[in-house]
Amino acid sequence: MRIDPHAHSTASDGTDSPANLVRAAAAAGLDVVGITDHDTVAGWAEAEAAVAETGVALLRGAELSCQAGGISVHLLSYLHDPAEPDLAAEVDRSRRSREERARIMVDRLSQDFPITWADVRAQVAPGATVGRPHMADALVAAGVAPDRDTCFATILSSRGPYYVRYHAPDAVTLVGLVRAAGGVPVMAHPRAATRGRVVSDAVVAAMADAGLAALEVDHRDHSPVARAELAALADRLGLARTGASDYHGTGKLNVLGEHTTDPAVLALIESEGSLPVVRP
Ligand code: AMP
Ligand code: FE
Ligand code: FE
Ligand code: ZN
Repeated sequence: MRIDPHAHSTASDGTDSPANLVRAAAAAGLDVVGITDHDTVAGWAEAEAAVAETGVALLRGAELSCQAGGISVHLLSYLHDPAEPDLAAEVDRSRRSREERARIMVDRLSQDFPITWADVRAQVAPGATVGRPHMADALVAAGVAPDRDTCFATILSSRGPYYVRYHAPDAVTLVGLVRAAGGVPVMAHPRAATRGRVVSDAVVAAMADAGLAALEVDHRDHSPVARAELAALADRLGLARTGASDYHGTGKLNVLGEHTTDPAVLALIESEGSLPVVRP
């Protein structure tokens, strides 16, 4: 069984539609793919509809924005009830703040580059979560930069003059809200240092106390040393380990199935989640 539990569609900053994400998973030889768009489950229904056709099972999830002491954390939530009001309110708040933040960033960018808010909106599918990748797509379309990667390394860097933060809930609080909504919380890329600062082991331990199920250990943004340290940390805290591609279609180099998760860990996630994996 080949299981890749972390991938994005056009419901956030991936470039494959939800159905095409499941088709791409089939082409990559996967048995199970996780759809984990940023702060939304808007892609679930379309992805579910592609399960029968492709024979690929679907793990429904989302990658939720949060923070600890101002350091950005991404929390994967699997098989939660998206209608649970307390969790839904927090996710809505993050999405609204992302929208406001995107407008401010685009105002700043438009002083120096030939892009407008309409140009950025044109890169976002209806109902999708907006992010810096869509600003990158608008910059690429305007001929300012060759690709998303270049934009992130330069114009859109979190250390650059155009960057604006957005509101996100506290990571430990969000772990509890995910559990209360019947979801299974997994910390995404805990040591992806190239993206910015990463949280201390003490924060991970507090998240574990609040109900965290696993750490995403095998991820391309982790060095071999980081993976070994995270594996030891997971063991120490009694957490499972996952591996995943964090595929974004053509928006990133990440390839579906480049890292995978043990079937026993998927079984654990499914046993603790409030929804089933959608099977062909
Ligand atoms: P935001 O959440 O709007 O601040 O943007 C961060 C998102 O951009 C992350 O979810 C990543 O998927 C994506 N991202 C980060 N670095 C890169 C990169 N070098 N190339 C393409 N996408 C990136
Ligand atoms: Fe992303
Ligand atoms: Fe992430
Ligand atoms: Zn992701």
